[in-house]
Amino acid sequence: MSDEGSVGLNGRVLYTGIERCPVCGRDTLHVMEILYNDPVFGDLILYSNQCDNCGYRRTDIQYLNSRGPSRITYEVRDEEDVYRTYIFRSKNAKVFSPELGFEINPGPEAEAMITTMEGLLLRLLDVADSMEVLNEGDDAVVSKLREFKNRVRDALKGRFKFTVIIEDPTGNSTLKPPQGRENNLHIEPLNQG
Ligand SMILES: [Zn+2]
Repeated sequence: MSDEGSVGLNGRVLYTGIERCPVCGRDTLHVMEILYNDPVFGDLILYSNQCDNCGYRRTDIQYLNSRGPSRITYEVRDEEDVYRTYIFRSKNAKVFSPELGFEINPGPEAEAMITTMEGLLLRLLDVADSMEVLNEGDDAVVSKLREFKNRVRDALKGRFKFTVIIEDPTGNSTLKPPQGRENNLHIEPLNQG
């Protein structure tokens, strides 16, 4: 995940080592635990496992100041929000935007991600590209995907305002807005009825 390397936050490596891979059984699993300290949002640990031999990969995030099940809402209004907002999403979280029209659901195969808003938007474009190829010939689906991609491209330029909502029943996700915009962030308890 190249996104992780590009996150401009100060991380401290707590542990790094080679362990036995749970899938292929060889001692080729790179294990890393990185602690991120943030004055506003507190401490996060990123767990990252990757096997050189079979490609098995697992990442997760633990938010040490978790407030319990939470819904995080942030409105992306301009380029600064796109390029300087960081998203920490645990594998249990749902991420969606009604205005952009996407939804990333948790599941057994879901992975945690640490990314900028830009990184998330670029990933959505990639997914839409793949879906366009898979749905070639289905004009209705393809035209919807193209409309979606146009909205995402506008959003990347800060020309399309949208809300990002992260719902995490474990409370292990968070979002870090650009400096000075912390008041635009809304975190409320997630009602799990
Ligand atoms: Zn392996």
